[in-house]
Amino acid sequence: MELERVRGIITTIKTFATHDGPGIRTTIFLKGCPLRCLWCSSPETWEKNPQIYFKAEKCVDCGECVRACPRNAVTMNKERKILRELCDLCMKCVEACKYGALEIVGREVSAGEIMEEVVKDKVFYERSGGGVTLSGGEPLYQPDFTLALAKLCRRESISVVLDTSGYASPRWVEEIAKNIDMALLDIKHMDPVKHKEMTGVSNELILENAKLMVKKCEVRISLPLIPGLNNTLENLKRTAEFARSLGVEAIDIVPFHRLGSHKYRFLGMTSPLSKFRVPSEAEIREAMEFIEAYGLKTTKGRMIAS
Ligand code: SF4
Ligand code: SF4
Repeated sequence: MELERVRGIITTIKTFATHDGPGIRTTIFLKGCPLRCLWCSSPETWEKNPQIYFKAEKCVDCGECVRACPRNAVTMNKERKILRELCDLCMKCVEACKYGALEIVGREVSAGEIMEEVVKDKVFYERSGGGVTLSGGEPLYQPDFTLALAKLCRRESISVVLDTSGYASPRWVEEIAKNIDMALLDIKHMDPVKHKEMTGVSNELILENAKLMVKKCEVRISLPLIPGLNNTLENLKRTAEFARSLGVEAIDIVPFHRLGSHKYRFLGMTSPLSKFRVPSEAEIREAMEFIEAYGLKTTKGRMIAS
């Protein structure tokens, strides 16, 4: 199939992004992820299919959505607006709401349509050393779409960064890594049991895929720093040693934040984010200095110098 015609599902396209790799970038957020990290700030990217956001603060209780739904899946109860187990995503309720209280999150697009947006900012990528970042969710969860986008960017001489958990079939990891410039690879915990408790999956496949990736593209490790979960000196030590063993030069420390709480509410879910603590500046500094002692570069966040 022509690369432009490969289709995928995304949540958003962020232009002029400066925290998703070097320079000025366009970040494409793909929908769908096989992990369920306890501290995730993007629950709208877990499911691959489009979903409905309900924004209670905009709802005026007019009842149009209830009347529009052919499956009796909408209620007047603001705590449980959409009975998601009955919903078939026909989106008639969204069309019926004139107040913007119901919104579709996620849309299907072709790689060609994405590229039409991406090339508009080519001059900014060239001037800043930037390009395109494929993020999510987990971009490797839609591997054919991710590969098509990477190849199309290459064709336009646009640099590609893959922001990934590394949890995917090694065959796809290898093929995609050949067609990108840099991977920002999350290593959330070095202990497989703790990793499974934190994310729902073991880290063994991820660590093996990391070894494949470094043979094909530049890799930077991203360490989400979550006090009480993975900021022990033992875990920092093992992460730094793993990076060194791969020949990786940099670890980006990404401090936990609670900015995604509202998204859980929009999806009718309870946010778990208040269970976790945002690391202090001193804790972030301590982690960075500890890792730098292994001869590695660090950044806070991912505003990487180009
Ligand atoms: S998307 Fe369709 S089935 Fe689902 S709640 Fe809305 S109207 Fe009902
Ligand atoms: S149509 Fe919109 S404003 Fe009216 S009850 Fe439904 S969600 Fe609320």
